[in-house]
Amino acid sequence: MKLNQLETVTGNLKSTDTMPVLFLGHGSPMNAIEQNEFSRGWQEAGRTIPKPAAILCISAHWETRGTLVTAMEKPQTIHDFGGFPQELYNVQYPAPGDPELAKETSETISTAKVGFDYSWGLDHGAWSVIKHLYPAADVPVVQMSLDYTREPEYHYELGGQLKALRNKGVLIIGSGNMVHNLRMIDWNKPESGSDWAVEASALFRKLILSGDHKNLVDYNKLGRAVQLSVPTPEHYLPLLYTLALKNANEGVSLFNGKEIMGSLSMTSVRIG
Ligand code: ZN
Repeated sequence: MKLNQLETVTGNLKSTDTMPVLFLGHGSPMNAIEQNEFSRGWQEAGRTIPKPAAILCISAHWETRGTLVTAMEKPQTIHDFGGFPQELYNVQYPAPGDPELAKETSETISTAKVGFDYSWGLDHGAWSVIKHLYPAADVPVVQMSLDYTREPEYHYELGGQLKALRNKGVLIIGSGNMVHNLRMIDWNKPESGSDWAVEASALFRKLILSGDHKNLVDYNKLGRAVQLSVPTPEHYLPLLYTLALKNANEGVSLFNGKEIMGSLSMTSVRIG
């Protein structure tokens, strides 16, 4: 990718305009191969966003010591899950990497050293959703890892430093689930959430729409429903990267806003 004056035209929009930012609630890996309300929501996002020059994805499924970006030319498709049908393991998502974007991302972040990784690839937090946005796998994808040693504030600050990439045709996607507690899955509630999940999800939606990022960063203080919803931080933290990229004058919209399996929220966020 050349990082200046890209003129990829989709409809009336050029990728030199400020790109939107997404948080995608990815849920089950099976969403990669299913046509359902969630995959349709991601497809719709792909249709209504100008085609990006590249994607930078912060996935819940890549946690490292220190922050890394994938810097290989051809990232492998990682099937980082167990117990699913063979059909899902057969999926390949051969989007190219983008070493130039990896370098640019590392240089853009001034408060932390961002290292280059040559062994990861695309985990299902990235490919299971990006596949629906860009089925032709013709948009280069770089992943950025979550440093599991750092506090939520660090992740929010890091996200904010990526803003300049939005003006260079880069679509930044956080991929996780804002409510995600696999131990509390309720098979009797395939299409709804337990009370605490519904409560936390409603609170998150309210705070996101009102721009109250401070309370979202300090989510540990938001009470029992949120503690149950975020038992470990990795599926929540990608949301903070997305929110930190919001400019003051931009709108925020929510889609796929539904709780499922008792303990998952699929709510997704679009900024810009
Ligand atoms: Zn996940």
